[in-house]
Amino acid sequence: MLHVVHHPAYVSPATQGSAFRFDKYGLVMEALRESGVTMTIHAPDPMPRPWLEAVHDPDYVDEVLRCAVPPAKERRIGFAVTQRVSRRAQLSPGGTWAAARLALVHGYAANAAGGSHHALADTGAGYCVFNDLAVAAHRLIAQGDASRILILDLDVHQGDGTAALTAGRADIFTLSVHAERNFPARKARSSLDIALPDRVEDAPYLAMLSDTLPRVLDDFEPGLILYQAGVDPHMDDRLGRLALTDAGLDARDRLVMRQARVRGVPIASTMGGGYGADRMAVARRHAACMIRLAEEAARCG
Ligand SMILES: [Zn+2]
Repeated sequence: MLHVVHHPAYVSPATQGSAFRFDKYGLVMEALRESGVTMTIHAPDPMPRPWLEAVHDPDYVDEVLRCAVPPAKERRIGFAVTQRVSRRAQLSPGGTWAAARLALVHGYAANAAGGSHHALADTGAGYCVFNDLAVAAHRLIAQGDASRILILDLDVHQGDGTAALTAGRADIFTLSVHAERNFPARKARSSLDIALPDRVEDAPYLAMLSDTLPRVLDDFEPGLILYQAGVDPHMDDRLGRLALTDAGLDARDRLVMRQARVRGVPIASTMGGGYGADRMAVARRHAACMIRLAEEAARCG
């Protein structure tokens, strides 16, 4: 059974002058339905303003909520913050938080959005408005749902915003595995960064991950993992500089879930990046990720 958090308002029309498309968040639900996976869909509430302000600059939160983001910040985000975009920017962190709460009960749940890891304190960036990972992690710890959280970011881009927003926190560990030459040009400092050269393929990638992740889990002993499961390390991705195959991404996600499961650590996944002209192919890549995580979570032993 896949517990997936989705809201119809995750989908928003494209904004003028931007290449970013929000239709992925509808297509991924279509891909999940066509796969025949057994799933329960949970609708999130918008993240309450005080929790957004606990991580982001209150003036920036105000700009987003009033749809009055200055043009320079909108350019940095990559799209205009319209009413629809503002609403989905509040729903998406609500979704990551809801997925985490479901994961604490069921072992695994997915937010079919989120992973907005470039958003910083006083501005969005790189198609990210609010940082759902940092906001959810902060709220979960503040409300006693977990005492330590690992934010595992395997998107091809570095989780620079997440690293900046959680820097200095002993109760949040950020592990980012990314392509060195992908955005952002100037990297932040995660608790642990693994920067890979271009065109890394399945075998070395998986060897690196199976060497790194168990050590982090054993040393940090998180009570919960927020997994940014971007599918843009795929070889066909329009932006990603790595060269993982479908089988490689499959093995990546199963490795993550197995390592968490043997230690009894629940996982909430967020969608993260995935780009390409074939919109449905990208959506299927994201759907496959959630399906195998749920499959692997349900396995015993
Ligand atoms: Zn990405």
